[in-house]
Amino acid sequence: MHSSRNLLIRFILGGTTLIVSISAYFSYQAARKITLEDLRVKAFLEVQRGVDEIEEWLHVRKVEVQTLAHTSTVRSLEWSVAEPYLKSEVERIDEFFFFQIVTPDGSYFNTKVGRSNKNIKDRDYFQKALAGKSNISDPFISRSTGIPLIAIATPIWSDSPTNRSPIGVFHGNVKVDRIAKVVNSLHYGKNSYAFALNSQGEAIVHPNSTLMSTVEKPAPSLLKIPDRNLNAIARQMVKKQQGIQLMEIDGTKKYVAYVPLQEANWSVALVIPRQNIESRLQFLDLIALIVGGLTVTMIAVLWQVQAFEQAQLKKSKVAADTANRAKSEFLANMSHELRTPLNGILGCAQILLRSKGLPESEQYHVNIIERCGSHLLTLINDILDLSKIEARKLELHPQDVHFPSFLQGLVEICQIRAEQKGILFVYEPASNLPTGVNVDVKRLRQILLNLLGNAIKFTDEGKVSFKVEVIERLPADGQTEKYRIHFSVKDTGIGITPTQLDNIFLPFEQVGEKKHQIEGTGLGLAITRQLVQMMGSDIQVKSEIGQGSTFWFEIAIAQASEWVKSAMAASKGQIIGFTGSPRTILMVDDRWENRTVITNLLQPLGFKVVEASNGKEGLEKAIALKPDLVITDLLMPEMDGFELIKHLRHTPDIQDVKIIVSSASVFEADQHRSLQAGGDTFLSKPIQADELLHQLECHLVLTWIYQQSQPEEQKINSSTTTLDSSSDKLTPPSLDVLRELMNLASKGNFNDILKWADKLEEADTKFTPFANQLRQLARQFDEDLILNFLIENEKD
Ligand code: ADP
Repeated sequence: MHSSRNLLIRFILGGTTLIVSISAYFSYQAARKITLEDLRVKAFLEVQRGVDEIEEWLHVRKVEVQTLAHTSTVRSLEWSVAEPYLKSEVERIDEFFFFQIVTPDGSYFNTKVGRSNKNIKDRDYFQKALAGKSNISDPFISRSTGIPLIAIATPIWSDSPTNRSPIGVFHGNVKVDRIAKVVNSLHYGKNSYAFALNSQGEAIVHPNSTLMSTVEKPAPSLLKIPDRNLNAIARQMVKKQQGIQLMEIDGTKKYVAYVPLQEANWSVALVIPRQNIESRLQFLDLIALIVGGLTVTMIAVLWQVQAFEQAQLKKSKVAADTANRAKSEFLANMSHELRTPLNGILGCAQILLRSKGLPESEQYHVNIIERCGSHLLTLINDILDLSKIEARKLELHPQDVHFPSFLQGLVEICQIRAEQKGILFVYEPASNLPTGVNVDVKRLRQILLNLLGNAIKFTDEGKVSFKVEVIERLPADGQTEKYRIHFSVKDTGIGITPTQLDNIFLPFEQVGEKKHQIEGTGLGLAITRQLVQMMGSDIQVKSEIGQGSTFWFEIAIAQASEWVKSAMAASKGQIIGFTGSPRTILMVDDRWENRTVITNLLQPLGFKVVEASNGKEGLEKAIALKPDLVITDLLMPEMDGFELIKHLRHTPDIQDVKIIVSSASVFEADQHRSLQAGGDTFLSKPIQADELLHQLECHLVLTWIYQQSQPEEQKINSSTTTLDSSSDKLTPPSLDVLRELMNLASKGNFNDILKWADKLEEADTKFTPFANQLRQLARQFDEDLILNFLIENEKD
């Protein structure tokens, strides 16, 4: 709870940090974009301002030239008249290099050289002015002075209104240096510089002198130089476009803002190092960096805390798992140890009950020993089950079974129990259930009986419904087809509160009213859930207090077509011996209780039983006696069972001897290992007589001799008692008693059945054979067997 809340807080904190950071990042991006745009506009306006200045300067010069061209002195085209006037004007204005008057044929006079013998008819600015258009030329090398100049030219109009075409051209020439001075005054921070291009893309002004034209070498056009970036800018400038662009010039990123002139056919550009503009973004970037850093730190810290906690959790989980496993192993081993002496107790009780000479009063006491032993065995088995599951040592043993009859068997038990409580039991099997299935019958039965048993136990009125459905047929893997089967047990009982629901699957947890709790141990659901989990699923439950509960689960079960073969027939009756030559059996066990049980069971049937108390002695006796079959324990001093089996299998003459391994070891691995070592079969302790006899029959190919007097149709287990044998016909008790016994059997209440057996016997000795049989069956903990027996007797 605590850790999941922590996780939630951390998740919210981390999530919020992340969301805030992401939005901060986008805001930063937007703010940066806006600011940058602002700065770019500002830089551009700076160029625009400079260009405006140049423009204004040119405009004033143009007006001055036009004013002079309109004076009568200039209009007279008389150089001798105009010269002194123009010379004084050059000096006065102090911006022009000289003034010049050109006659329409291209010959001219100027204030620098006076009359010139050269001709400028070919000059572009002259032709434009003669065509009536004032204009400012691109820089050119003056023919009269040999220096780079710009001409501000205007037509000279005659004052006669009839003459509509210019009578000459007047221009004032300005040194390019003068333009350069104006252009160079443009600045935008350190290392920024301006340049101007003429209409051909040639530099009029440029700090790089190689790009400027000289008398010897005219300026190269920027449209043609190898620098692609400058080319692109030059193209825009020549096209008289304006803008600001970031580009690489001389190896660094720079902004270039460019604006065309109106007065002349030129364009001016200002080159600004990137940081001059973007330095103001640094503050913004710094803030962004700090926020970013904080975010990363925050997330890293949260991450670290989470990782640390996970590691701690893992550590404690491993520790808890180890402790839990140790506990389960301890319980499993302890139950194992408890089963060995119990084996002796139950075995001896069985032998005594089989003995004909036991007086009745003693029989009563032996019965008590046997009953208590059996009860103890159930408890041990329950604990063992749970601890085996928890120690992960329980394995499922699927076997082929006829599914409908398996379910029917369960239903019959429950129907009787329900009837007894006066509630309805409804069984709803789907019509498409598979016939043969491969499943661990014992465990599935345990699961379903627990759920059905609880449902009936906790329902006082209404009904319990048991539904089995096929949810889907799973695609066959290889040859077996699988079904996903849904089992649900629904009752109208007392229900479980939500808080109780959290606990019911815990071992020894019983919730609700005390009166119901007495009937159980609180282990059932814990085992049931674990078993269902082992089958690859989980138990679901929903419940409403006072309304009832539904428990359900779905498991995948494989179809089995060969189920018939696997089904085993019940034994025919009581064995008193076997045909053919006598057989020798070597019983190897370090515990006298275990050896005695077997010897006493087998000797009366005609077997020669030899005992050995450890593997070494067993091997010696085996070599000396060459027995037909060896029954051996696994854990023994001197030489253990595994060793003994190995030696037996490698000793000539006796290597083919049949070996039954009998051990109280509950671990599947031991059983497996013993069979691998060479054992023929495994019997767990306490050994059940009928199981042992069945194994002997198989391995020694025996034909049993059955007690003749036993009625043929009474197909009761072979281990029925010989007490009050032959002539005793069974006298069943009254129908009421039989019903009560059925009720107890259906509840699995073997203890009370044993009590009833005693009561019957006490009431009348004629019931003794019935009571004895009942006891024997009760000791096998098989409700079906008892119920069949009771139903048979009810018919009689
Ligand atoms: P018990 O041996 O006590 O039945 P379980 O482990 O089988 O132990 O069940 C644990 C507890 O869960 C029961 O004691 C009971 O309080 C509750 N419980 C189980 N099944 C039902 C049900 N069908 N209706 C009401 N309560 C139930």
